[in-house]
Amino acid sequence: MSPALQNDLLTRRLREREREKEALLKFPMEELVDIIMDVGFSCDLCARCCTRAFNGHVLLLDDEAAWIADWDPAALEPVPVFDFCDQEGTFYVSGYTIRTLQDRDGSCWFLDRERCRVYEFRPRVCRIYPYMLHREPDESGIVDWRQISGLNQHGQYHGEISRDNATLIARDVIAFEKAVLEHEIAFLEYTRSFFARKGLRHVRKMYDTQIRRLAQGISVPVRVYSHGTFDQWVTDGKVTRRMGVK
Ligand code: SF4
Repeated sequence: MSPALQNDLLTRRLREREREKEALLKFPMEELVDIIMDVGFSCDLCARCCTRAFNGHVLLLDDEAAWIADWDPAALEPVPVFDFCDQEGTFYVSGYTIRTLQDRDGSCWFLDRERCRVYEFRPRVCRIYPYMLHREPDESGIVDWRQISGLNQHGQYHGEISRDNATLIARDVIAFEKAVLEHEIAFLEYTRSFFARKGLRHVRKMYDTQIRRLAQGISVPVRVYSHGTFDQWVTDGKVTRRMGVK
């Protein structure tokens, strides 16, 4: 694939995210409120949602990553999803997540005996959970809006939630999803201009080579988008260390 086409991937992703943001802002709020009231979720403190085995990684917004970096730097690590890889073998990721403990299910760093140690300050994604509003494929690959994560797999259902309360939840969900999309858009725009300035491009073959090196425990560089620039990290798949900026 030519360099121009490789970097078109960035532009395509950017357009997709912009379209998704437009659609999100048009989603009828009352429909989400009705779904929240209908589901009537309540937490039964099983703590499954705080594990990577059940839920993947916790997505942090920039301000949340900043307070965690100040308060407990060891808790922070790059999102474990590599978006791009340049011809020099550096991966690019959109931001930060919370590190996991070395246990079977990959429990959140802040989980202690099935309780959150930072409950009062927990990230927004944990506050709105299990509600969400984004488009993703189901088991048969059909892409549609999803509003509830892990439906019927944890917690309790059909409790009473007042319309006022459900409206507050729905507003928080939409505000969070909008902030996530805006962060992703900023990441894609910055990566595209960074590539143009430095003569870099996404190279699929190099991406696959670096994934194989990681599987062998060989360290690879990672650029993590945060606060409008890249932080430089290195990972060997198990240990991830921060090296500096750019
Ligand atoms: S920050 Fe707290 S609520 Fe969020 S995943 Fe970690 S332990 Fe769970």
